[in-house]
Amino acid sequence: MSQQGYVATPPYSQAQSGMGGYPAGFGSAPSQPLYGHYGGQPQSFPVPPTGMMKPAPPPTGLPSPPASSHYISNGQQNEAHPPRYAAPPAAAASPYGQPPQSPYHSMSPQAPPQAQQVTNQMGAMNLGYGPPPAPISQALPTSHLAQQPFHSAPPPAMGHPPLGSPCTGPQSHRMPSPQSPPAGQPMGGPPSMGGMGRPYPGPPPPGAGGFQQFGPGAEGQPGYPQQPQGQFGGQMAGPGMAGPGMAGPGMAGPGMAGPGMAGPFQGGAAQMAGPPQKKLDPDSIPSTTQVIEDDQAKRGGQVYATNVRGQVPPLVTTNFTVQDQGNASPRYMRCTTYSFPCTADLAKQCQVPLATIIKPFATVPKNETPLYVVNHGEAGPIRCNRCKAYMCPYMQFIDGGRRFQCGFCSCVNEVPAFYFQHLDHMGRRVDFYERPELSLGSYEFVATLDYCKNNKSASPPAYIFMIDVSYANVKSGLVRLICEELKTLLDNLPREEGAESSTVKVGFVTYNKILHFYNVKSALAQPQMMVVSDMAEMFVPLLDGFLVNFQESCSVINNLLDQIPDMFADTNESETVFAPVIQAGVEALKAAECSGKLFIFHSSIPTAEAPGKLKNRDDKKLINTEKEKTLFQPQKGLYEQLSKDCVAQGCSVDLFLFPSQYVDMATMGDVSTHTGGTVHKYSNFQLELDGEHFLSDLRKDVRKAIGFDAIMRVRTSTGFRATDFFGAVHMNNTTDVEMAAVDCDKAVTVEFKHDDTLSEETGALMQCALLYTTISGQRRLRIHNLSLNCSSQLSELYKSCETDALINFFAKSAYRAMLNQPLKTVREILVNQTAHMLACYRKNCASPSAASQLILPDAMKVFPIYMNSLMKTGPLVGSAELSTDDRAHQRLSVMAMGVEETQLLLYPRLVPLHNMDVASDVLPAPVRCSEERLTDAGMFLLENGHSLFLWLGQACTPELVQSIFNVPSLAHMPSDLNKCAFQSSLPVLDNPQSKKLRSMIEALLDQRPKSMKLLIVRQKDRSEMLFRQHLVEDKGLHGGASYMDFLCYVHREIRNLLT
Ligand SMILES: [Zn+2]
Repeated sequence: MSQQGYVATPPYSQAQSGMGGYPAGFGSAPSQPLYGHYGGQPQSFPVPPTGMMKPAPPPTGLPSPPASSHYISNGQQNEAHPPRYAAPPAAAASPYGQPPQSPYHSMSPQAPPQAQQVTNQMGAMNLGYGPPPAPISQALPTSHLAQQPFHSAPPPAMGHPPLGSPCTGPQSHRMPSPQSPPAGQPMGGPPSMGGMGRPYPGPPPPGAGGFQQFGPGAEGQPGYPQQPQGQFGGQMAGPGMAGPGMAGPGMAGPGMAGPGMAGPFQGGAAQMAGPPQKKLDPDSIPSTTQVIEDDQAKRGGQVYATNVRGQVPPLVTTNFTVQDQGNASPRYMRCTTYSFPCTADLAKQCQVPLATIIKPFATVPKNETPLYVVNHGEAGPIRCNRCKAYMCPYMQFIDGGRRFQCGFCSCVNEVPAFYFQHLDHMGRRVDFYERPELSLGSYEFVATLDYCKNNKSASPPAYIFMIDVSYANVKSGLVRLICEELKTLLDNLPREEGAESSTVKVGFVTYNKILHFYNVKSALAQPQMMVVSDMAEMFVPLLDGFLVNFQESCSVINNLLDQIPDMFADTNESETVFAPVIQAGVEALKAAECSGKLFIFHSSIPTAEAPGKLKNRDDKKLINTEKEKTLFQPQKGLYEQLSKDCVAQGCSVDLFLFPSQYVDMATMGDVSTHTGGTVHKYSNFQLELDGEHFLSDLRKDVRKAIGFDAIMRVRTSTGFRATDFFGAVHMNNTTDVEMAAVDCDKAVTVEFKHDDTLSEETGALMQCALLYTTISGQRRLRIHNLSLNCSSQLSELYKSCETDALINFFAKSAYRAMLNQPLKTVREILVNQTAHMLACYRKNCASPSAASQLILPDAMKVFPIYMNSLMKTGPLVGSAELSTDDRAHQRLSVMAMGVEETQLLLYPRLVPLHNMDVASDVLPAPVRCSEERLTDAGMFLLENGHSLFLWLGQACTPELVQSIFNVPSLAHMPSDLNKCAFQSSLPVLDNPQSKKLRSMIEALLDQRPKSMKLLIVRQKDRSEMLFRQHLVEDKGLHGGASYMDFLCYVHREIRNLLT
């Protein structure tokens, strides 16, 4: 390794270089006001008058024409919201603008701001919440602050024993030893779930053995396994913030107080003068791998019952079993915090975003109960008359069961006669356990015709395979590969549970400059081709015989798939069209009156004369300029219209791209990312090396659980509402999230804002209702309910935060903001908000301590590493060395990700393999993502959900190399590993090391939504760069600070905010 231990340069003695590549430093005030979420800020999107807060919900990416609803009557639209307070405009405090924030590189000691300035500064930092009801300087009165602190905190006992001398010894971590934290670093205080939670409104949760039978239409196995009460509730003692050895109410970052860190922070002029090189112990800063391990140790293998309101679930990385007892499983909904602040003022003060990440079709493990389906027949689902919320555990039955009060809007509704049931002595319906909609957090309703387009029942969806047969795709062998694969793959189309065959219809199109449609009607002996060469007015030349049942037309289809590669074998056509291909797909679905999905296999930028023709607009000179954002903005016009057409028809577009050069990913991927589709990219596709990788993606894609023609509405109890949505979605208005399709991997991140005061007693309730068409063509409503706590204590909020969910929100909001603002501004906002969130905690929730000590909320102690990693991702880093298409691709992919995926992407797993216990079933524990943790004699697997690397240290033992690669030593491996035979799959060898490694990789690939191509890199090879950019704790290869530097920087910002 290039260095042992961390050699610290006091961060403030340098100009920018310490922060590695954010040229202007983080600290300077952005010249422009800030972006979307962070604000409802003035001027963020469409520019409102300067100085006015935007009262309305933030924009949604596409312009919002008047709502054109295609659902009628009492569908999900055209509903009156309960009265909300219109947000009054208020004078805008130019955030980050005025406060005397020193630029990062300032060498001069800061003059402490006056008390009033502090207030202003804190106020001005408050970006998070829309319309402040009062001047900002009053939002944070000191008296208020004085009342707050230590509400639930034990006395300070700054937990970390000093590490000895300022030079904390040369802790060189040549061998990864993640399980043995250094002395004084018991990071994982027990999470603070107990005590604060209380069951959702209504009677206490059922004891064991409830849920015996279900009402009409219920299916699935009856009864739940016995559930011990209070699995996670109640075991926590008292305030519960401080873990063993942890300081006070927060996490006093062990080591942060230590002399090693203290030096730089206490630095006055003297320190600055001569930068003494000090070694800092990298183990002393909060570790993500440790946090993950601790949560797994504490909550892994347990049953998580959802009967407690505001309960913080185990981490996404922890293995646990969910038992639905009235709130949606965290697999469906995860929140940035499980305790909302009662007032908008508090929310504004802390700037912690209030958001829920909803993955409505999340895959649940086999040992968890699938969703029950409730069928009320022609009556349809029971709803609140006023807010239209669906029957759920938050409805309170009164008046002997004749009426119910809505938990969302308090409206009292009559119970329809068919639904009447008596109440027991506790006021609960006696059929409570028999009806999923009364007792569960998640369930489905069969929808009536009212919920169908034009009051006509829906049809099963269709999958259309559209293959680019231009020269590049034919020559690479791709066309033949696809056709071969489809013959078997089409037998695996998704089907309803228990159904014998799939009802999904299939159709086939090939194209280059013109389109070829195929008639594959079962009655035909041979498939028939019909050519459409008029690209300007796309139409589908045949109705009957284009979309067919695979089983019925199997022989004709196989015949076609045999013929296609030969038909185009001699093609010279290198130009392609693209937009007309999508148009053709939509027209076909329209003609068949069904929803569906297009699988488009495309090679190059569409340059043929046709609508949607694109040109190369990749310009590296724009990087790090104001115009960089234009690289990521899709071409407007036709593609925008196509998205709308697709959404209106329930047509999702999955794009498989095989480019050998720039293809304008930002535009080509645009329709997919507005239709719940996925974009897969295989640059410089080579059959032998990438074929299997592509096929696994295709197989996953065709088989995955999916719903079509979906529209989602998130309802909330009074006092707050959903204001912004991030995902592969389309918004025609501000409330209805339209998704042409939504599959098991797609998540929508929903941000909430206050419009009134929330009550601690009733909490904050939310209901996500998703109306969609199943793969067999049934119209259904999928309901997910979640109840959160509300508190007037910010400490409760910080205690109930979830870092993984927070970072999902920040990733999506930043990736959207970069379309409208310079990257530098976006990065500055991220840093500033990080500092602000942590400063507010320090100010309001932590015990008093030396300013030199960095104190982080326990639940957010690794937030800085994720945030720093986010800023170093390709889209945000602004480096000319990265491909514009790759950056655009990552940007688009992240927008639809759930919490698991963003967590893994921003903190990859780095697993040491050289000393794994082959006899054990347990996987080796991951180590921190830093070069520090690599060893010359080691072998490591690194994985982030998109890339998979096997890294070989240059001193790897011959035995290890032999056991995995079947060659005597590293020297015997080919010099160019990219060409080597085992590049995409390791040799199958009959020894324990090989078996274990291969099964590990197989299991990984199985778990992830996308396939990953295994890349083997040797230490010091050129390709090692690709690997090293994922070592997120280190300084970024393309710019961006190391974790340590970032933490120092953030700490300094926090101190600036607090002084
Ligand atoms: Zn209501």
